[in-house]
Amino acid sequence: MPLDQTEAIVLRSFNIGDQDKVVVFFSRDKGLLRGVAKGARKFGNRFGSSLEPMSLVKVFYYEKEHKDLVTVSQAELIESFFEVHGDFRSACTLGYFAELVEEFFPSRAKEDLVFRLLFSVLSAIKQKGDLGILSRYFEAWFLQINGLLPDFRRCRKCRKRLTEGGWLSPRMDGVYCGVCAPLKKEEVPAEFVHFLGWVRKNAPPIEGGPACSAGQLEDIGRTLQSIIVYHLEREPKSLHFLK
Ligand SMILES: [Zn+2]
Repeated sequence: MPLDQTEAIVLRSFNIGDQDKVVVFFSRDKGLLRGVAKGARKFGNRFGSSLEPMSLVKVFYYEKEHKDLVTVSQAELIESFFEVHGDFRSACTLGYFAELVEEFFPSRAKEDLVFRLLFSVLSAIKQKGDLGILSRYFEAWFLQINGLLPDFRRCRKCRKRLTEGGWLSPRMDGVYCGVCAPLKKEEVPAEFVHFLGWVRKNAPPIEGGPACSAGQLEDIGRTLQSIIVYHLEREPKSLHFLK
């Protein structure tokens, strides 16, 4: 069995058997990897703290034919985000990001983009960037990379510029103005276009950020989450804790 290696972020892990763990990794070049870490729950085991959620690691593993789970032989810690978990809201936010990455399972060509997005937002959270702004930043880019952000600038039907915001189409593939909207269920706030423009031009902020109030940011989040829920066909479990 050849030994493979890749750089990956630990999304989550769960216990299996008496002493082992199953770990879900998101790797830069191989996408999602689920592996068994044998003996990972034994005292003084060889994995140390490398399998904590959101750790950036170099993982060494064996792939077996016809098996979904790889065998993790070693994980070298590159960077820990352990201290972020000390704060309940930050920990829940990281859980939310992990759930989105695992559930949407980005296509092969886009793994590297999602990996870089996740790592850069994690780093900004670790450096005490604003959690609300960084969460919306992650959601917006995550949807954009996955090709799920519709055109927010013009009405899907009459092509009028949406300076006053608008309404999401029922299939989340466009935005209507107030006149054309077939039903007014999911409102898009007026600040949304400005926010997206800012996100596309800037790195995840540690200080400062787009010029919007906490209330506006909340409305922007509601729009982004409507699109996420539509495509996931359910509300992310971790989002419940953030509301
Ligand atoms: Zn219109």
